[in-house]
Amino acid sequence: MSHYDYLIVGSGLYGATFAYLAHSHGKRCLVIDKRHHLGGNIHCENINGINVHKYGAHIFHTSDKRIWDFVNGFVPFNRYTNSPIANYHGKLYNLPFNMNTFYQMWGVTTPDEAKNIIDKQIQESGITTPNNLEEQAISLVGRDIYEKLIKEYTEKQWGRKCPDLPTFIIRRLPVRFTFDNNYFNDTYQGIPIGGYNRLIDGLLNGIDTLTDTDFFTDRKKWEQIADIIIFTGKIDEFYDYRFGKLNYRTVRFETECLNTQNYQGNAVVNYTSHEQPYTRIIEHKHFEPENPAYMNKQTIISKEYSVEWQNGMEPFYPINNESNTSIYTQYKLLADNEQHIIFGGRLAEYKYYDMDDVIAKAMNDWSKFNGNN
Ligand code: UDP
Repeated sequence: MSHYDYLIVGSGLYGATFAYLAHSHGKRCLVIDKRHHLGGNIHCENINGINVHKYGAHIFHTSDKRIWDFVNGFVPFNRYTNSPIANYHGKLYNLPFNMNTFYQMWGVTTPDEAKNIIDKQIQESGITTPNNLEEQAISLVGRDIYEKLIKEYTEKQWGRKCPDLPTFIIRRLPVRFTFDNNYFNDTYQGIPIGGYNRLIDGLLNGIDTLTDTDFFTDRKKWEQIADIIIFTGKIDEFYDYRFGKLNYRTVRFETECLNTQNYQGNAVVNYTSHEQPYTRIIEHKHFEPENPAYMNKQTIISKEYSVEWQNGMEPFYPINNESNTSIYTQYKLLADNEQHIIFGGRLAEYKYYDMDDVIAKAMNDWSKFNGNN
Protein backbone atom coordinates (compact mmCIF):
# COMPACT_ATOMS: atom_id res chain seq x y z
CA MET A 1 0.00 0.00 0.00
CA SER A 2 1.26 3.50 -0.76
CA HIS A 3 2.10 6.06 1.89
CA TYR A 4 -0.30 8.90 2.64
CA ASP A 5 -0.07 12.35 4.15
CA TYR A 6 -3.24 11.72 6.15
CA LEU A 7 -5.02 8.67 7.41
CA ILE A 8 -8.56 9.66 8.39
CA VAL A 9 -10.14 7.16 10.76
CA GLY A 10 -13.91 7.49 10.44
CA SER A 11 -15.87 8.94 7.53
CA GLY A 12 -18.48 10.97 9.40
CA LEU A 13 -18.83 14.70 8.89
CA TYR A 14 -15.63 15.61 10.74
CA GLY A 15 -13.47 13.07 8.92
CA ALA A 16 -15.07 13.68 5.54
CA THR A 17 -14.74 17.47 5.82
CA PHE A 18 -11.11 17.24 6.92
CA ALA A 19 -10.35 14.76 4.11
CA TYR A 20 -12.02 17.06 1.57
CA LEU A 21 -9.95 20.06 2.66
CA ALA A 22 -6.69 18.12 2.75
CA HIS A 23 -7.37 16.49 -0.64
CA SER A 24 -8.26 19.80 -2.25
CA HIS A 25 -4.92 21.17 -1.04
CA GLY A 26 -3.10 18.38 -2.83
CA LYS A 27 -2.56 16.10 0.18
CA ARG A 28 -2.73 12.34 -0.20
CA CYS A 29 -5.56 11.04 2.00
CA LEU A 30 -6.89 7.64 2.94
CA VAL A 31 -10.23 7.39 4.75
CA ILE A 32 -11.05 4.17 6.57
CA ASP A 33 -14.31 3.26 8.24
CA LYS A 34 -15.23 0.12 10.14
CA ARG A 35 -18.80 0.22 8.92
CA HIS A 36 -19.97 -1.17 5.61
CA HIS A 37 -20.72 2.34 4.35
CA LEU A 38 -19.29 5.86 4.49
CA GLY A 39 -20.84 8.88 6.20
CA GLY A 40 -20.97 7.89 9.86
CA ASN A 41 -24.29 8.66 11.46
CA ILE A 42 -25.61 10.86 8.66
CA HIS A 43 -25.70 7.87 6.32
CA CYS A 44 -29.15 7.22 4.85
CA GLU A 45 -30.52 3.95 3.51
CA ASN A 46 -32.80 4.17 0.52
CA ILE A 47 -35.89 2.06 1.20
CA ASN A 48 -38.55 2.12 -1.54
CA GLY A 49 -37.24 5.51 -2.72
CA ILE A 50 -37.35 7.08 0.75
CA ASN A 51 -34.09 8.20 2.38
CA VAL A 52 -34.18 6.61 5.81
CA HIS A 53 -32.02 8.29 8.45
CA LYS A 54 -30.51 5.02 9.65
CA TYR A 55 -28.82 6.52 12.70
CA GLY A 56 -31.47 8.98 13.80
CA ALA A 57 -32.98 12.14 12.39
CA HIS A 58 -30.43 14.63 11.11
CA ILE A 59 -31.70 18.11 10.37
CA PHE A 60 -29.09 20.53 9.16
CA HIS A 61 -29.23 24.02 10.65
CA THR A 62 -26.70 26.80 10.97
CA SER A 63 -26.36 30.55 11.21
CA ASP A 64 -22.92 30.43 9.63
CA LYS A 65 -23.24 31.40 5.97
CA ARG A 66 -19.78 29.99 5.27
CA ILE A 67 -20.94 26.52 6.42
CA TRP A 68 -24.29 26.77 4.62
CA ASP A 69 -22.59 27.71 1.34
CA PHE A 70 -20.03 24.97 1.86
CA VAL A 71 -22.59 22.15 2.18
CA ASN A 72 -24.81 23.56 -0.57
CA GLY A 73 -21.79 23.46 -2.85
CA PHE A 74 -22.03 19.65 -2.77
CA VAL A 75 -25.80 19.20 -2.85
CA PRO A 76 -28.73 21.64 -2.83
CA PHE A 77 -30.74 21.65 0.42
CA ASN A 78 -34.53 21.89 0.62
CA ARG A 79 -36.42 24.27 2.90
CA TYR A 80 -37.47 21.67 5.49
CA THR A 81 -38.21 23.33 8.83
CA ASN A 82 -38.26 21.14 11.89
CA SER A 83 -41.46 21.58 13.92
CA PRO A 84 -41.78 18.53 16.15
CA ILE A 85 -44.97 17.62 17.96
CA ALA A 86 -44.96 16.34 21.53
CA ASN A 87 -47.51 13.68 22.48
CA TYR A 88 -48.19 13.48 26.21
CA HIS A 89 -50.83 10.85 27.07
CA GLY A 90 -52.55 11.44 23.72
CA LYS A 91 -52.64 15.23 23.94
CA LEU A 92 -50.54 17.11 21.37
CA TYR A 93 -48.30 20.12 22.02
CA ASN A 94 -46.10 22.13 19.68
CA LEU A 95 -42.37 22.25 20.21
CA PRO A 96 -40.14 24.05 20.88
CA PHE A 97 -41.76 25.80 23.83
CA ASN A 98 -43.60 28.76 22.32
CA MET A 99 -46.95 30.60 22.43
CA ASN A 100 -48.68 27.63 20.75
CA THR A 101 -47.41 25.35 23.54
CA PHE A 102 -48.43 27.82 26.24
CA TYR A 103 -51.92 28.11 24.72
CA GLN A 104 -52.23 24.31 24.57
CA MET A 105 -50.96 23.98 28.16
CA TRP A 106 -52.84 26.81 29.90
CA GLY A 107 -55.26 28.38 27.39
CA VAL A 108 -53.35 31.67 27.52
CA THR A 109 -53.47 33.81 24.40
CA THR A 110 -50.95 36.58 25.08
CA PRO A 111 -47.20 36.58 25.89
CA ASP A 112 -47.83 38.51 29.12
CA GLU A 113 -50.27 35.87 30.40
CA ALA A 114 -47.80 33.11 29.57
CA LYS A 115 -44.90 34.95 31.22
CA ASN A 116 -46.97 35.54 34.35
CA ILE A 117 -47.72 31.83 34.74
CA ILE A 118 -44.11 30.83 34.13
CA ASP A 119 -42.78 33.50 36.51
CA LYS A 120 -45.19 32.36 39.23
CA GLN A 121 -44.07 28.73 38.84
CA ILE A 122 -40.40 29.72 38.91
CA GLN A 123 -40.99 31.77 42.06
CA GLU A 124 -42.81 28.85 43.75
CA SER A 125 -39.88 26.56 42.97
CA GLY A 126 -37.46 28.85 44.83
CA ILE A 127 -34.75 28.27 42.20
CA THR A 128 -32.45 31.22 41.67
CA THR A 129 -29.38 29.80 39.95
CA PRO A 130 -30.11 26.53 38.09
CA ASN A 131 -27.52 23.87 38.83
CA ASN A 132 -28.91 20.91 36.90
CA LEU A 133 -31.29 20.07 34.05
CA GLU A 134 -34.39 19.97 36.28
CA GLU A 135 -33.71 23.38 37.78
CA GLN A 136 -32.76 24.79 34.39
CA ALA A 137 -35.97 23.50 32.78
CA ILE A 138 -38.21 24.89 35.53
CA SER A 139 -36.35 28.23 35.36
CA LEU A 140 -37.03 28.44 31.62
CA VAL A 141 -40.62 27.26 31.27
CA GLY A 142 -42.07 26.56 34.73
CA ARG A 143 -43.10 23.35 36.44
CA ASP A 144 -46.11 22.30 34.28
CA ILE A 145 -44.10 22.12 31.07
CA TYR A 146 -41.22 20.50 32.89
CA GLU A 147 -43.52 17.77 34.24
CA LYS A 148 -45.39 17.07 30.99
CA LEU A 149 -42.91 17.70 28.20
CA ILE A 150 -39.42 17.42 29.67
CA LYS A 151 -39.08 15.23 32.76
CA GLU A 152 -40.04 11.78 31.49
CA TYR A 153 -38.75 12.34 27.96
CA THR A 154 -35.35 13.30 29.37
CA GLU A 155 -35.35 10.29 31.72
CA LYS A 156 -36.02 8.03 28.74
CA GLN A 157 -33.47 9.80 26.55
CA TRP A 158 -30.61 9.86 29.05
CA GLY A 159 -31.47 6.98 31.43
CA ARG A 160 -30.79 9.37 34.29
CA LYS A 161 -32.85 11.63 36.53
CA CYS A 162 -33.02 15.28 35.51
CA PRO A 163 -31.24 16.52 38.66
CA ASP A 164 -28.26 14.36 37.62
CA LEU A 165 -27.89 15.94 34.18
CA PRO A 166 -26.14 19.16 33.06
CA THR A 167 -28.09 22.33 32.29
CA PHE A 168 -26.78 22.81 28.74
CA ILE A 169 -28.79 19.86 27.38
CA ILE A 170 -32.07 21.70 27.79
CA ARG A 171 -30.64 25.07 26.79
CA ARG A 172 -30.30 23.63 23.28
CA LEU A 173 -34.02 24.25 22.88
CA PRO A 174 -35.43 27.71 22.15
CA VAL A 175 -38.14 29.23 24.38
CA ARG A 176 -40.20 31.85 22.55
CA PHE A 177 -43.08 34.15 23.33
CA THR A 178 -44.19 34.17 19.71
CA PHE A 179 -46.34 31.70 17.75
CA ASP A 180 -43.37 30.08 16.03
CA ASN A 181 -42.92 26.30 15.91
CA ASN A 182 -39.50 26.34 14.25
CA TYR A 183 -37.33 24.08 16.45
CA PHE A 184 -34.18 26.00 15.60
CA ASN A 185 -33.22 29.67 15.84
CA ASP A 186 -30.68 29.40 13.04
CA THR A 187 -30.79 31.45 9.83
CA TYR A 188 -30.43 28.42 7.53
CA GLN A 189 -32.07 25.00 7.75
CA GLY A 190 -32.82 22.09 5.46
CA ILE A 191 -32.22 18.55 4.26
CA PRO A 192 -30.01 17.67 1.26
CA ILE A 193 -32.26 17.01 -1.73
CA GLY A 194 -31.70 13.35 -2.53
CA GLY A 195 -30.35 12.57 0.93
CA TYR A 196 -27.25 13.01 3.06
CA ASN A 197 -25.25 10.41 1.13
CA ARG A 198 -24.92 12.98 -1.65
CA LEU A 199 -23.12 15.29 0.77
CA ILE A 200 -20.69 12.59 1.88
CA ASP A 201 -20.13 11.43 -1.71
CA GLY A 202 -19.32 15.01 -2.67
CA LEU A 203 -16.89 15.50 0.20
CA LEU A 204 -15.07 12.24 -0.46
CA ASN A 205 -15.10 12.41 -4.25
CA GLY A 206 -11.68 11.35 -5.63
CA ILE A 207 -10.33 10.30 -2.21
CA ASP A 208 -9.17 6.75 -1.40
CA THR A 209 -11.65 5.11 0.98
CA LEU A 210 -11.92 1.70 2.61
CA THR A 211 -15.06 0.47 4.35
CA ASP A 212 -15.30 -2.61 6.62
CA THR A 213 -11.87 -1.56 7.87
CA ASP A 214 -11.36 -1.27 11.62
CA PHE A 215 -8.35 0.78 12.75
CA PHE A 216 -7.99 -1.28 15.92
CA THR A 217 -7.74 -4.69 14.27
CA ASP A 218 -4.44 -3.68 12.62
CA ARG A 219 -3.40 -0.60 14.51
CA LYS A 220 0.36 -0.91 13.85
CA LYS A 221 -0.16 -1.05 10.11
CA TRP A 222 -2.50 1.94 10.05
CA GLU A 223 -0.28 4.03 12.30
CA GLN A 224 2.54 3.67 9.79
CA ILE A 225 0.61 4.32 6.63
CA ALA A 226 0.44 8.10 6.95
CA ASP A 227 2.35 11.02 8.45
CA ILE A 228 -0.67 12.29 10.34
CA ILE A 229 -3.75 10.51 11.69
CA ILE A 230 -7.12 12.19 11.98
CA PHE A 231 -8.93 10.11 14.57
CA THR A 232 -12.70 10.48 14.89
CA GLY A 233 -13.51 7.34 16.92
CA LYS A 234 -13.89 6.94 20.68
CA ILE A 235 -11.00 8.63 22.47
CA ASP A 236 -11.18 6.22 25.43
CA GLU A 237 -10.80 3.26 23.08
CA PHE A 238 -7.84 4.94 21.36
CA TYR A 239 -6.05 5.03 24.71
CA ASP A 240 -7.07 1.47 25.65
CA TYR A 241 -9.48 2.74 28.31
CA ARG A 242 -6.50 3.44 30.61
CA PHE A 243 -8.37 6.09 32.60
CA GLY A 244 -11.64 4.17 32.49
CA LYS A 245 -14.56 3.93 30.12
CA LEU A 246 -16.59 6.94 29.08
CA ASN A 247 -20.37 6.48 29.06
CA TYR A 248 -22.50 6.98 25.97
CA ARG A 249 -26.14 6.70 25.09
CA THR A 250 -27.11 4.80 22.02
CA VAL A 251 -30.35 4.45 20.13
CA ARG A 252 -32.07 1.27 19.02
CA PHE A 253 -34.32 1.77 16.00
CA GLU A 254 -37.42 -0.19 15.14
CA THR A 255 -38.03 0.64 11.52
CA GLU A 256 -41.26 -0.42 9.82
CA CYS A 257 -42.79 0.01 6.41
CA LEU A 258 -46.48 0.88 6.77
CA ASN A 259 -49.21 0.64 4.16
CA THR A 260 -50.37 4.21 4.41
CA GLN A 261 -49.34 7.32 2.50
CA ASN A 262 -49.02 9.51 5.59
CA TYR A 263 -48.78 7.99 9.07
CA GLN A 264 -48.32 10.88 11.49
CA GLY A 265 -48.41 14.06 9.39
CA ASN A 266 -45.01 15.21 10.61
CA ALA A 267 -41.40 14.04 10.45
CA VAL A 268 -40.90 14.04 14.23
CA VAL A 269 -43.35 13.19 17.03
CA ASN A 270 -41.87 13.05 20.54
CA TYR A 271 -43.53 10.84 23.15
CA THR A 272 -42.89 12.70 26.37
CA SER A 273 -44.33 10.28 28.93
CA HIS A 274 -43.21 6.87 30.17
CA GLU A 275 -46.41 5.41 28.68
CA GLN A 276 -44.43 4.67 25.49
CA PRO A 277 -40.99 3.11 25.91
CA TYR A 278 -39.64 4.92 22.83
CA THR A 279 -38.67 8.61 22.82
CA ARG A 280 -39.91 9.55 19.37
CA ILE A 281 -41.23 8.33 16.04
CA ILE A 282 -39.62 9.59 12.86
CA GLU A 283 -41.56 9.42 9.58
CA HIS A 284 -38.73 9.81 7.12
CA LYS A 285 -40.61 10.87 3.97
CA HIS A 286 -41.60 14.20 5.55
CA PHE A 287 -37.96 15.33 5.48
CA GLU A 288 -38.11 15.38 1.67
CA PRO A 289 -41.57 16.35 0.42
CA GLU A 290 -40.10 17.11 -3.02
CA ASN A 291 -39.06 13.46 -3.42
CA PRO A 292 -41.39 11.64 -5.91
CA ALA A 293 -41.53 8.75 -3.39
CA TYR A 294 -43.36 11.10 -1.02
CA MET A 295 -46.63 10.22 -2.77
CA ASN A 296 -46.06 6.45 -2.47
CA LYS A 297 -48.85 4.57 -0.76
CA GLN A 298 -46.32 3.33 1.78
CA THR A 299 -44.29 5.11 4.41
CA ILE A 300 -41.28 4.25 6.59
CA ILE A 301 -41.26 5.04 10.30
CA SER A 302 -38.62 4.50 12.98
CA LYS A 303 -39.31 4.26 16.68
CA GLU A 304 -36.28 5.38 18.71
CA TYR A 305 -35.41 3.57 21.93
CA SER A 306 -32.65 5.21 23.93
CA VAL A 307 -30.34 2.77 25.71
CA GLU A 308 -27.05 2.82 27.63
CA TRP A 309 -24.11 2.03 25.38
CA GLN A 310 -22.32 -1.27 25.83
CA ASN A 311 -19.45 -2.87 23.90
CA GLY A 312 -20.48 -3.81 20.39
CA MET A 313 -23.15 -1.09 20.12
CA GLU A 314 -22.88 2.19 18.22
CA PRO A 315 -22.12 5.07 20.59
CA PHE A 316 -24.37 8.08 19.83
CA TYR A 317 -24.51 10.66 22.58
CA PRO A 318 -21.68 11.53 24.99
CA ILE A 319 -22.99 11.92 28.54
CA ASN A 320 -21.30 15.09 29.74
CA ASN A 321 -21.83 14.71 33.48
CA GLU A 322 -19.21 15.25 36.16
CA SER A 323 -17.65 11.78 36.27
CA ASN A 324 -17.37 11.48 32.48
CA THR A 325 -15.99 14.97 32.17
CA SER A 326 -13.23 14.20 34.63
CA ILE A 327 -12.29 10.99 32.77
CA TYR A 328 -12.36 12.80 29.43
CA THR A 329 -10.12 15.57 30.75
CA GLN A 330 -7.39 13.00 31.39
CA TYR A 331 -7.63 11.60 27.86
CA LYS A 332 -7.64 15.13 26.46
CA LEU A 333 -4.33 15.86 28.15
CA LEU A 334 -2.75 12.94 26.30
CA ALA A 335 -4.41 13.97 23.05
CA ASP A 336 -3.13 17.54 23.32
CA ASN A 337 0.43 16.27 23.53
CA GLU A 338 0.24 14.14 20.39
CA GLN A 339 2.39 15.45 17.55
CA HIS A 340 0.94 13.42 14.68
CA ILE A 341 -2.66 12.79 15.69
CA ILE A 342 -5.65 15.12 15.53
CA PHE A 343 -8.80 14.14 17.43
CA GLY A 344 -12.10 15.48 16.07
CA GLY A 345 -15.86 14.93 16.16
CA ARG A 346 -18.47 13.79 18.68
CA LEU A 347 -16.67 10.69 19.85
CA ALA A 348 -13.06 11.85 19.79
CA GLU A 349 -13.87 15.13 21.53
CA TYR A 350 -16.62 13.60 23.66
CA LYS A 351 -18.88 16.48 22.78
CA TYR A 352 -22.62 16.83 21.97
CA TYR A 353 -21.97 18.47 18.58
CA ASP A 354 -24.43 19.66 15.96
CA MET A 355 -23.49 18.99 12.33
CA ASP A 356 -22.57 22.57 11.45
CA ASP A 357 -20.29 22.85 14.47
CA VAL A 358 -18.52 19.63 13.50
CA ILE A 359 -17.87 20.98 10.02
CA ALA A 360 -16.66 24.30 11.45
CA LYS A 361 -14.33 22.44 13.85
CA ALA A 362 -12.87 20.37 11.00
CA MET A 363 -12.31 23.56 8.98
CA ASN A 364 -10.65 25.27 11.92
CA ASP A 365 -8.48 22.27 12.70
CA TRP A 366 -7.44 22.06 9.09
CA SER A 367 -6.30 25.68 8.98
CA LYS A 368 -4.76 25.48 12.45
CA PHE A 369 -2.64 22.43 11.74
CA ASN A 370 -2.11 22.47 8.00
CA GLY A 371 -3.86 25.30 6.25
CA ASN A 372 -0.78 27.39 5.81
CA ASN A 373 1.36 24.57 4.40
N1 UDP B 1 -36.24 17.47 25.40
C1 UDP B 1 -37.35 17.27 26.17
N2 UDP B 1 -38.55 17.05 25.56
C2 UDP B 1 -38.69 17.05 24.20
C3 UDP B 1 -37.54 17.28 23.42
C4 UDP B 1 -36.34 17.49 24.04
O1 UDP B 1 -37.27 17.23 27.39
O2 UDP B 1 -39.80 16.83 23.71
C5 UDP B 1 -34.94 17.67 26.10
C6 UDP B 1 -34.24 16.33 26.33
O3 UDP B 1 -33.53 16.41 27.56
C7 UDP B 1 -33.28 16.27 25.17
C8 UDP B 1 -32.87 17.74 25.05
O4 UDP B 1 -34.06 18.45 25.33
O5 UDP B 1 -32.18 15.44 25.44
C9 UDP B 1 -32.29 18.14 23.72
O6 UDP B 1 -33.22 17.82 22.71
P1 UDP B 1 -32.82 17.73 21.17
O7 UDP B 1 -34.05 17.64 20.39
O8 UDP B 1 -31.87 18.84 20.87
O9 UDP B 1 -32.07 16.34 21.16
P2 UDP B 1 -31.46 15.48 19.93
O10 UDP B 1 -32.28 15.80 18.72
O11 UDP B 1 -30.02 15.88 19.81
O12 UDP B 1 -31.63 14.08 20.37
